[in-house]
Amino acid sequence: MTDAAKLTEEFGCLVFSDKIMRERLPKDIYKAVHKTIERGTHLELDVANCVAAVMKEWAIENGATHFTHWFQPMTGLTAEKHDSFISPMDDGTIIMEFSGKELVKGEPDASSFPSGGLRATFEARGYTAWDPSSPAFIKDGSLYIPTAFCSYGGEALDKKTPLLRSMEALSAEAVKVLHLLGHEEVNRVNTTIGSEQEYFLIDKDDYKMRKDLLFTGRTLIGAPATKGQEMEDHYFGVIKPKVSAYMHDLDEELWKLGIPAKTKHNEVAPSQHELAPVFETANIAVDHNQLTMEVMKKVADKHNFACLLHEKPFEGINGSGKHNNWSVCTDTGMNLLDPGKNPGENIPFLVFLMAVISAVDDYAPILRLSVASAGNDHRLGGNEAPPAIVSIFLGEELAHLLESVEAGEVYKGSGKVQMAMGAQVLPHFTKDNTDRNRTSPFAFTGNKFEFRMPGSSVSVANANIVLNTAVAEELSKIYERISAYKGEELTEKVMEVLREELLAHKRVLFNGNGYTEEWVAEAKKRGLANLKSLPEAMPYWISDESVELFTKHKIFTKEEIFSRYDILLENYSKSIHIEALTMQEMVRKDLTEGLVAYQKDLTKELVQKKSLLDGACGEHELGILKTLDTASAEMSKALSKLEADTKIAEEKEDLLDQAGFYEESILKDMDKVREYADEAEALIPDKYLSYPTYGQLLFSLR
Ligand code: ADP
Ligand code: MG
Repeated sequence: MTDAAKLTEEFGCLVFSDKIMRERLPKDIYKAVHKTIERGTHLELDVANCVAAVMKEWAIENGATHFTHWFQPMTGLTAEKHDSFISPMDDGTIIMEFSGKELVKGEPDASSFPSGGLRATFEARGYTAWDPSSPAFIKDGSLYIPTAFCSYGGEALDKKTPLLRSMEALSAEAVKVLHLLGHEEVNRVNTTIGSEQEYFLIDKDDYKMRKDLLFTGRTLIGAPATKGQEMEDHYFGVIKPKVSAYMHDLDEELWKLGIPAKTKHNEVAPSQHELAPVFETANIAVDHNQLTMEVMKKVADKHNFACLLHEKPFEGINGSGKHNNWSVCTDTGMNLLDPGKNPGENIPFLVFLMAVISAVDDYAPILRLSVASAGNDHRLGGNEAPPAIVSIFLGEELAHLLESVEAGEVYKGSGKVQMAMGAQVLPHFTKDNTDRNRTSPFAFTGNKFEFRMPGSSVSVANANIVLNTAVAEELSKIYERISAYKGEELTEKVMEVLREELLAHKRVLFNGNGYTEEWVAEAKKRGLANLKSLPEAMPYWISDESVELFTKHKIFTKEEIFSRYDILLENYSKSIHIEALTMQEMVRKDLTEGLVAYQKDLTKELVQKKSLLDGACGEHELGILKTLDTASAEMSKALSKLEADTKIAEEKEDLLDQAGFYEESILKDMDKVREYADEAEALIPDKYLSYPTYGQLLFSLR
């Protein structure tokens, strides 16, 4: 069999897919499940019983002995608890059983998952509920059933529930607008997501020797290697054989799970890579991204690599993000962000485009917050990643289009320009509507928006919850203003509303270079927020505006919003706390051990030279010794300050105040320690250090 034929056969072989359901379920049951998936209707228990029986049979045939409700608690990770299918009989034998009730509902002990005060520990009970819209799959001998997770009182304790709610909210508002605009055939719209995942691969043995990587996912000290990314020789470069073998295996594992991994390449930084899947419905894409991250780590382990998903594993080297490509598509197959041949007359496109622009402008701080984490704060605003200012890049074509809208004229541009490459032999093709802008946090890329702020390690659920809800809100506001009109009057009214919206929100549009200082100044003039850190942005999450947005569209209750506020802040402080402790330990023990050993040898050398040669000699050694001595004295002072401040941080009771202190004091203390630690490390030969240096970590893979 050819590789391609094998791939066609193996793709999704571990997924309880629509195809399998169609083949194996009785027709009426299949239809009922389909209705639930498409329309979100309630599923009866007899239907669930039948699906469970068929699912179990299929799972056992494919090697499963257990099943698990798989969910996404607010840790940002996934959680699972496995039960076997076995049911003991009176005669000492067993049978394999799996009921509809077990499929539909689980009751994990919820007390050890973060709830942000939503659930007292004595009310330990939590529920998981089957999400039939994301297919079940087999992994490591278990049948995985994607589920939503909630408390005994019904509050969402996970990321899936609000995501599903936000998809429904957006669909409801979009369908109302589309019906008014004459598209009555549309029953539902779906958000589609393609999330490009960046990651680093380093040698597993190197990884194990660094406490900072093991405990915090990023290096806390480390002098830069003499080579960094300045040669720009890694991006799209030839993939090294070992890495290529890893990528090959990774693709295969992902394909079996029905994850459409499509593109792979080297990224800008040494040892950094990217994987992009073909886009899918938001809910499935989020599940698949969580799985992708897990499989990436697992396959790395097999290849003796460690896969780093932290947003900023190395100082001075690009960090990793997860570009969230986002669009809205009707159940009739219409991509609402596709400008088409005549964008000027494509009213649904113009309305949805404007709704996105207004949403991003109105809710920029919340959108910024949706990607905030201790890790991502190192990346946003760094000069390789989008700035913390949320703005939109539309490209020339759409900018012209909107100028016409503003002037009240009909835009006549076609959206497509012929490409001339100056050689007859080269093929002729039309250019895309937009050039690429790599510096914008929110860029229009032809028929979708690319939100570039999410960090590489986080679930993309949050970003999409906010995006969907904010756009739903803008659509509902537009609908209210145009719903009383019909025919030509409607078109006129739509254009008038679009014009007004554009005038109100065009400050968020920016086609220039987002990495420059000029833009920071300009954005300030325009009144755009520049929220550099999580603690600075956090108050917006519980602002009246935010509460109103989320409660109006039934995405979060007020309690759910406040619980997430607590969890985010706690998580931020805890992450930096662990970093502070790890750094102290690493500097005091590992670096100091190497430093002292080297100083000892240098001193020995110096004494020997002096006694042998008598007189002025050993200048070189003496110079190094002196520098090491000064650096270590400063390092020690900085360490004492870090230690004292860490104690102060621990004592703080107010969560926002505490997080603010970690940001303002602890991170600064850590920078200071690092400054001197790196100065010392740069002088110490590798053989004295018990951990691998940057040069080894970043350039040793062949
Ligand atoms: P680049 O790195 O140049 O931005 P990639 O090809 O790496 O482009 O990634 C583009 C991503 O956008 C892919 O995951 C792709 O499937 C996704 N995408 C394409 N069309 C849509 C759409 N309509 N909705 C959501 N995502 C989309
Ligand atoms: Mg890409």
